[in-house]
Amino acid sequence: PDEAAEADADTASGQPAGWVEQLTPGRFAGQTVIVTGAASGIGRAVATRVAREGGRVVAADISKEKLDELAATLTDLPAGAEVIPVAGDISDQGDVERIALAAGNRIDALANVAGIMDDMSAIHEVSDDLWERVLRVNLEGTMRLTRAVVPSMLAAKEGRIVNVASEAGLRGSSAGVAYTASKHAVVGLTKSSAVMYAKSGIRTNAVAPGGVATGIHVPGAAEFGAPVLRPYQGNIPSLAMAEELAASITFLLSKDSVNLNGAIIASDGGWSAV
Ligand code: NAD
Repeated sequence: PDEAAEADADTASGQPAGWVEQLTPGRFAGQTVIVTGAASGIGRAVATRVAREGGRVVAADISKEKLDELAATLTDLPAGAEVIPVAGDISDQGDVERIALAAGNRIDALANVAGIMDDMSAIHEVSDDLWERVLRVNLEGTMRLTRAVVPSMLAAKEGRIVNVASEAGLRGSSAGVAYTASKHAVVGLTKSSAVMYAKSGIRTNAVAPGGVATGIHVPGAAEFGAPVLRPYQGNIPSLAMAEELAASITFLLSKDSVNLNGAIIASDGGWSAV
């Protein structure tokens, strides 16, 4: 088949050329992994992949309806794998405690994926309400979950925490100050956690996605699945699929990322390299 025709087909499916999600069977067997934001987008792809790779997943999200739908779709899982949906708000301490309780005494890994966008306010326009809401979910929520799982990981002398930052956590922007500040703070939290617990066997890393076709970014994407277009900016694909981010995040959640701690991995197809 000629190359141009193949490239067109990849574009139409939204998949990067030559890539299909390649599961590592049993990678999370016997492990309990909490995934926040699990009801849609990147979190859903992470929860799905961990469960399909044998893990016991505590799937936490504020949207109970979408969580139930996820649990209903995740049938035919390998033996020992499980999805435990817990509806809750990561910015609420009581809800965070319920999420941790559902995981039980031994928590192997935590993926802090839940997050919200802001309304692209500039600093001189930002309202107290928006500022507080975005910081409460993106930063405080990440801190609350981390605080809740660390005692279990300290007792086990091992654990992995993966935070989802953003391109907006790596550089400034002319809009969206609350989101940008919250994601820079997530990077700081990641590095502190990495340093603080390095001797205790707990590794904390972050992934900084570029554009991902999810509900947060492209209205309707969550409903329609893969984007029909995979647009490029110059040489760089500007929109990835959630499964591509899940590939990076599950690697960091797994024991294979053994020598990574405090790393902020840009998973963006090359965007931040330009
Ligand atoms: P999404 O909107 O599809 O998923 C976010 C999920 O988080 C939703 O299911 C939502 O219900 C949940 N959530 C929101 N607030 C919550 C709360 N208070 N408690 C519990 N759950 C809550 O978006 P996504 O693109 O999958 O976003 C996942 C993460 O990736 C976010 O942290 C986002 O900032 C980050 N990110 C996304 C992009 C992108 O282009 N999509 C780029 C960079 C970073």
